[in-house]
Amino acid sequence: MTTSLGGYAGVVLHVDLSMRAVSEYPWTDADRRRFLGGKVMAARILYDLLAPKTDPLGPENTMVIATGPLNGTGAPSTARFDVSALSPLTGTLGTSNSGGSFGVYLKKAGVDALVITGCADAPVWLEVAEDGVHFRDAAALWGLRTSAAQAALRDAVGRKCGTIVAGPAGENLVPYAALVSDERVAGRTGMGAVFGSKNLKGIAAHGERRATPAHPEAFHAHVKKWTASLKAHPIAGDRLPTYGTAGFLGTMNELGILGTRNFQAGSFEGADAISGETLAETRLVSRTGCLSCPIRCGRVVELDGERVKGPELETLVLLGSNLGVSDLGRIIEWNRELDELGLDTMTTGVTLSLAMELTERGAWDAGVRFGKAEGLFELFGDIAYKRGVGATLATGSRAIARRYGALDIAMQSKGLELAAYEPRNAIGHGLGYAVSNRGACHLNGGYGVALEGLALKMNGRSQRGKHALVAMFQDLMEAVSAAGGCLFTTLGVLPAPLVTGANGPLGKVANAVLGSAGGVLRALRVVPPVALGIPMPLVPHIRAAELATGMKLGFGGFWAIGERGYTLERLIGMRFGITAEDDVLPTRLTTEPIDPRDPASVVPIEPMKRRYYAHRGWDAFGCPRPGLLRRLGLANLDGEA
Ligand code: SF4
Repeated sequence: MTTSLGGYAGVVLHVDLSMRAVSEYPWTDADRRRFLGGKVMAARILYDLLAPKTDPLGPENTMVIATGPLNGTGAPSTARFDVSALSPLTGTLGTSNSGGSFGVYLKKAGVDALVITGCADAPVWLEVAEDGVHFRDAAALWGLRTSAAQAALRDAVGRKCGTIVAGPAGENLVPYAALVSDERVAGRTGMGAVFGSKNLKGIAAHGERRATPAHPEAFHAHVKKWTASLKAHPIAGDRLPTYGTAGFLGTMNELGILGTRNFQAGSFEGADAISGETLAETRLVSRTGCLSCPIRCGRVVELDGERVKGPELETLVLLGSNLGVSDLGRIIEWNRELDELGLDTMTTGVTLSLAMELTERGAWDAGVRFGKAEGLFELFGDIAYKRGVGATLATGSRAIARRYGALDIAMQSKGLELAAYEPRNAIGHGLGYAVSNRGACHLNGGYGVALEGLALKMNGRSQRGKHALVAMFQDLMEAVSAAGGCLFTTLGVLPAPLVTGANGPLGKVANAVLGSAGGVLRALRVVPPVALGIPMPLVPHIRAAELATGMKLGFGGFWAIGERGYTLERLIGMRFGITAEDDVLPTRLTTEPIDPRDPASVVPIEPMKRRYYAHRGWDAFGCPRPGLLRRLGLANLDGEA
């Protein structure tokens, strides 16, 4: 199949592992116009292919690995790709996004996305090349750690390629096993276990195709301007490059939003020792980043005389303050080990913090204690291989909490563990955790904390406008991701004077305007997208997507793609039993004040959720109403299928 649109390879392949057969998956330009790519495209495909009662670890589960039209075009920070399937951790739609070079090389091979079904009868890896997909024997690779597995794929291919692999945890079906591409990780929702369940060790992609923009000259001029604006931005051009994502850790500690000791507190006495500044001063060897990224938030650090990948913010917090550990060297070591085993550092950290609190309460003794780093390195191996107490820890926090009657202190929603941010001092962020389609995710949740302290300084305890802002940012981030963009570039969308002057008069005005924006945003939602064709220089992703593809999107069209994706994810979630009762937070966060002197310092989730549903056009049960589905062109999906 070809495409008349720029930016795309024009081919989506269906790989049937059971039959060892490859065919073209029908995906038209009309689909591209409505669903763009990445996770939105994946949601549309999985809406058709995931039947109710699918076993996440059975051959009937379908995985979609999808790029967006900006991947490989040279636009800044656009090497991200998406992996989606039914999640073995949550039992609902799982999605995970990764950097690394795999997505770009998949496009170079002439493929926009892979739809993977079935289960191979013996371990395989896939070589995706311009002449097709080749099934290769992975018997000798089974059991390899992720860097060795990627090296083996590169050796076998014998040329420059992008790789993505599962580690031992994925092979052993740990429900929070990750996939690793270069040194980047698709960590969340257990996509590594889906690889393992399909006897799929990894994929290598290579080729020489180029993703050609529809309007090359205008596109490259826009990219130049966009890159310059990112470099001049106080966060995208300064804080992230200088300190990595860990540069936010100190601010989080000051604001009381640093997940600490299983979210029993919002600040940590050892925060300085694990901050981005300390990492930069004591360990940093060099910066690194995904292909075509001017931000380069990745860290290369020194560990016992060796250069290794440095931990990101989420890992530093969830394996650091969240476990009461301030030993930076240990966290660096753990980060590397978990990547090698192919385990999600975030779910691992929150599962361990639950085990530590259960130990404190005398409910279960997994041999782990807050502040005690000894033994954890070995325990990670036990989790990956499901040995001893590791076999229980390998089930994740929700399963453990159910077993020990401790759901109130299991820091998860819909089965996915919280990210690094304590939400009682950033309640918009808390709303995002509760309603996020994939579980308690900061990004799918709309990253409210960016407005509530990390970039702007909206009052983190105020409900004003939060429901509308969370919904809008969820949609826009969905669309940015669908295009192939990195979500950190969305921080670059916030005007620099507002970020640098967040505490000053300008910031106060901005906060007041944002807090009152609910009505306007609600009105804008129902305006037909074409009527919102206003140029939005603040969101350069839109212009880039237009110039790359040749589509006319405007702000309304881009937003509608995000909203369509978010709504589709919700519809898939409903198929797997998600209702309003699942849009919740652990009761610790809604009933235990983070500030003992202020009984109101909890997340008032129910009123916020009601406003959020009404704003989105969902009913009281959290179901999208027919009018919304019609507006988004989703009313007749079953007929289309
Ligand atoms: S900002 Fe960081 S994660 Fe995003 S594309 Fe750049 S290097 Fe990759």
